[in-house]
Amino acid sequence: MVLYEKAPAKINLSLDVLSKRDDGYHNVEMIMTTIDLSDRIEFHEMKKDRITISLESRFVPNDERNLAYKAAALFKERYDIKAGVHIKIEKNIPVSAGLGGGSTDAAAVLRGLNRLWSMNLSLSDLANLGAELGTDVPFCVYGGTGIASGRGEIVKSLKAPPACWVVLAKPNIGVSSGMVFQQIKLDELIHPTTKELIKTLEEGDFSRMCTNLGNSLENITMERHPEVRQIKEAMIQAGSTGTLMSGSGPTVYGLVMQENKAHRIYNSMRGFCEEVFLVRLLG
Ligand code: ATP
Repeated sequence: MVLYEKAPAKINLSLDVLSKRDDGYHNVEMIMTTIDLSDRIEFHEMKKDRITISLESRFVPNDERNLAYKAAALFKERYDIKAGVHIKIEKNIPVSAGLGGGSTDAAAVLRGLNRLWSMNLSLSDLANLGAELGTDVPFCVYGGTGIASGRGEIVKSLKAPPACWVVLAKPNIGVSSGMVFQQIKLDELIHPTTKELIKTLEEGDFSRMCTNLGNSLENITMERHPEVRQIKEAMIQAGSTGTLMSGSGPTVYGLVMQENKAHRIYNSMRGFCEEVFLVRLLG
C-alpha cells in the first residue's frame, strides 16, 4: 500500500519566551498558522521490519538523523509495530529557515503511519507523541491556526487569520534554533502582545492583527545576522502590511490582502535574496 501526506510549513504570528524550565528548555507561547508551502511525504509499506528514507536535499540527512525517521522509529517503538516503511520526502520547504520544515515532516509521518497501520489514534495522541520530537511538532500535527504553550506540547486551536497573501524571503543563511535559544537573556526580551493578537484573530481584524505580530527572538537573530533586519526593512518599504521574522529565523514574511501588492513585494524582494516565495495562508 502507498499513502501520501501533505506537510505544510508554518509561520509564527507571535513567539514569546516566558521562562526557563528546570529541564533546561524554555516555556514558550507561540501563535502559528500554516501556509501553502508544503513538503510531500509518501509512505510505502514494507514487509521487512525497518525504516528507510529517501529525499533529494543537500541540507537534510536521509538516515536516522532525519526527523521523519525519528518520528517513524518512535511510533513503531511506542506501539510495538513489527512492520517496515519506506518514506519518500519531496522537500519544498527551505531548511533551517524558521518555517518548521523538519517538525511538519515529523508530524506528517505520525499522521501517515497512523493511517498506514490503521491505528485509529486521535490527533491528540499523535501530538503527545510529537512533543517528544520537538517544540513545533504538536502544533504541526493539528495544523491550521493555534497557540502552543509549555514546551510546545499544549496546543489550543484559534480562529484562522483573514485570507491573505504571504511573501517569504529567506537570506542565504541557516539559523539553528538551539543556538538562538542558548543566547536568550530573559530580562532583555521584548514580549509580543499575545492577548491582543488573539483578540484581533477572533474579530477577523487584519490590520490590527498585523500591528500585533511579534517575535521575542527577532532581535537575537538580527544582531547576529544584520541581513535579516535589512530584509525586514525592505519588506516594509515594499509595502507589506504585517512583517515579522518567523521562528528563530532567518525567514522574514510579509502579509498583504491585495494580490497585485503581493506580486509587487515578491518582485522587489527577489532583488534582495534568492529564496523568495509567494503563497497563501492556509490557516
Ligand atoms: P526549527 O525552527 O524547528 O528549528 P526550522 O524550520 O528552522 O525549524 P528545519 O528546516 O526543521 O528548521 O531544520 C532544522 C535542522 O533539522 C536542519 O539541520 C536539518 O538538517 C535537520 N532535519 C532533520 N530532518 C529534517 C527534515 N525532515 N526536514 C528538514 N530538516 C530536517
